[in-house]
Amino acid sequence: MVLDLLIVGASFAGLVAAKTAAARGLDVAVIDSKREPGANIRTTGILVREAIDEIDIPAHLTRKVPGVRLYAPNLSSVDLFCPGYAFYTTRTAALLRWLTDEAREAGARVLYGLRFDGGSTDNGLIRLDGIDIQTRYLIGADGARSRVAKCFGLNPNRRFLTGVETEFETGDSVDPRFLHCFLSAAFAPGHIAWAAPGPDVIQVGLAVGNGKKPDLAAFLAHTESRFGWRSMKIVERRSGLIPCGGPLRQTASPGVLLIGDAAGWVSPLTGGGIRLAFRHGRRAASYVADHLLNGGAAPEARLVSDVPPLRWKRLLRRAFDLTPPDPLLNLALSTGPMRRAAELVYFHRSAHGVDRDAYQKWLDLEYAGQARPANRLGKTG
Ligand SMILES: Cc1cc2nc3c(=O)[nH]c(=O)nc-3n(C[C@H](O)[C@H](O)[C@H](O)COP(=O)(O)OP(=O)(O)OC[C@H]3O[C@@H](n4cnc5c(N)ncnc54)[C@H](O)[C@@H]3O)c2cc1C
Repeated sequence: MVLDLLIVGASFAGLVAAKTAAARGLDVAVIDSKREPGANIRTTGILVREAIDEIDIPAHLTRKVPGVRLYAPNLSSVDLFCPGYAFYTTRTAALLRWLTDEAREAGARVLYGLRFDGGSTDNGLIRLDGIDIQTRYLIGADGARSRVAKCFGLNPNRRFLTGVETEFETGDSVDPRFLHCFLSAAFAPGHIAWAAPGPDVIQVGLAVGNGKKPDLAAFLAHTESRFGWRSMKIVERRSGLIPCGGPLRQTASPGVLLIGDAAGWVSPLTGGGIRLAFRHGRRAASYVADHLLNGGAAPEARLVSDVPPLRWKRLLRRAFDLTPPDPLLNLALSTGPMRRAAELVYFHRSAHGVDRDAYQKWLDLEYAGQARPANRLGKTG
């Protein structure tokens, strides 16, 4: 089989790229070593508002979560929210199945149970080892430890956070209006712990920086009296690596492009990568189509100039690596500068200075008939 484009990895980046490529008229296939769409999920799957703006996802696959409750190590907390902004937890496996259907309906072949083990360039075509496929372009959307990057001499990710997560059956103790985020040098050095109210389950996890060992059991014990995890049934457990060194320098060579985690396109600060996977997945496919069908500029060059620098997030990542000791975090959480810094990280702007009327309207919309968050400046815990 000779294709215009072969994509390795049928996840957020690869499936969105496949849909765009097929819709533009390319002969495209995606391969993935997983046995079926939605198998072996390794992510919490929370979408930031901007990810929803990238592609229109059916509402029934998501749950809107308008605020963030940020906890100090001693479990005192502040509520953060920003009118007009929200996070969306997802039925992640169903979302990946939907993305697969979308790609197929656009005309892409999505083939599960096929692993990329290597390939080589020959006369303008890329041949895969052990699979009867040749292709004019190859996109590596194969995640944090990309085999495509290794095979074609592109940069590998070198810095990672290690994330672990347990899914619990829904319980009343986790207020569903908030993403619950926990700062702690003891339990989540270099990152945070979280409890996310998904559409069907509560996802509780944490990530730790390079070389540290995540201990979710200790965090669950620390928060047991507040949330009562022991009375909830465990549905699933997962773990995975999150690249945190920022975008890689060399992510393209003739005929080969990396996207998503494979290219290091993950926020070094929050560890969120799905939005960038959607955005650059679409763009990469569109550049390949423009080149092959319209004689447009080489996609290798265009994609590289698209790379988000994420400079300030890289700087903050360095600061995060030196997580302050827990007593200092306890003191800092309720201060104005800390709140504003947190609002910038979560919402990309501060709610400080939001017009009073707009704020009131937003409260009415999000919290109609429910207990309202303490107040926009107040402590709740
Ligand atoms: C614990 C955890 C929680 C996270 N939570 C969030 C979150 O809430 N929100 C967010 O935005 N981001 C989150 N992230 C990051 C996010 O999951 C990634 O940025 C995102 O999944 C990247 O998508 P991708 O398509 O680039 O790669 P991936 O989702 O990693 O997919 C790679 C695909 O390639 C396939 N593959 C790999 N090697 C091969 C091969 N050799 N041959 C064939 N197929 C192959 C894999 O099976 C997989 O399907 C989290 C990450 C972790 C680990």
